[in-house]
Amino acid sequence: MLPEPVNFPETKTIATLGEPFVIMAECICGHTRELHTLFYGGSSGQVSPQGKVRNKLRCHKCQARMPTVRIYRRAPEV
Ligand SMILES: [Zn+2]
Repeated sequence: MLPEPVNFPETKTIATLGEPFVIMAECICGHTRELHTLFYGGSSGQVSPQGKVRNKLRCHKCQARMPTVRIYRRAPEV
């Protein structure tokens, strides 16, 4: 189970977030997938703010654009 999402402004980049965070894209159809911080950096090394990245995201299931991005702090290993 994931804890409550972290409040993170859309104007900030997620690429600088480290290992303890999980980034999930949640579509209105209910499909969720995990995004990796590498995705935000891109091959060009350019770092985009979360809001910009969100515009480019597309659901793998229903092709809807702009899923909700939620950031969770990864629960410590038990
Ligand atoms: Zn979808």
